[in-house]
Amino acid sequence: MNIDEFKLEVSKLGINVTSLELDKLEKYYNLLIEWNEKINLTAITDKKDVYLKHFYDSLTLVKVIDLENVSSLCDLGTGAGFPGIILKIFFPNLKLTLVDSLNKRIKFLEVLVNELFLENVILIHGRAEEYGKKNRECFDVVTARALSSFPILLEYSASLLKKGGHLIAMRGLNDSKDGENAMKILNLKINNVIEFELPIEKSKRTLIDVVKLDKTSLKYPRRYAEIKKKSL
Ligand code: SAH
Repeated sequence: MNIDEFKLEVSKLGINVTSLELDKLEKYYNLLIEWNEKINLTAITDKKDVYLKHFYDSLTLVKVIDLENVSSLCDLGTGAGFPGIILKIFFPNLKLTLVDSLNKRIKFLEVLVNELFLENVILIHGRAEEYGKKNRECFDVVTARALSSFPILLEYSASLLKKGGHLIAMRGLNDSKDGENAMKILNLKINNVIEFELPIEKSKRTLIDVVKLDKTSLKYPRRYAEIKKKSL
């Protein structure tokens, strides 16, 4: 999508794009392409594709949650910053934490956060399940796009959320049924599932909005070896 298409589609999400935000996206695109030559950040490099499949796609999260009223948000397996950094550009009120297990990607994000003058962003090089073991009941919202199977993602996220907090899982096809058992064990419940198609290229997307009903047992998240051996 070109810039005009981006502005139009984003306005349909209820967001009015300012020239400051467009400047930040332009800088983001340039840094992404520059760094992608040295480290593997994304297979998508064509400008129109990045604006559609990374920038616009990240913003679709607002279909399920009003981020104006959210304070703390943690993006697990953020990669090159999707959706976390994009959400921060449009909702500077967010206290953002980005987690990724690959240090090279965290190094890129450090530069990006500085170049875009983003404040209140914490970058964590580490595994989601290890971060979630130590940082319990502290986020209003957890997001994750294209990270692991749904039951494993539920186990990564549950402990991080405050009671009443939401996990918004951004996925391709709707695999929410796979998480029924995990949700029972982790005191989670589906609040809403939205299926839609990306504009222009029409590929399928699913947003799964999960709410935390009660505290997470200290048993979870388990270590990765155990999670992998048998997911909930
Ligand atoms: N959310 C980004 C990246 C998805 S790829 C996007 O949608 O574009 C998955 C990312 O998660 C990779 O960057 C990988 O390094 C990271 N990752 C995989 N397992 C992880 C774990 N257990 N904890 C933290 N990061 C993880």
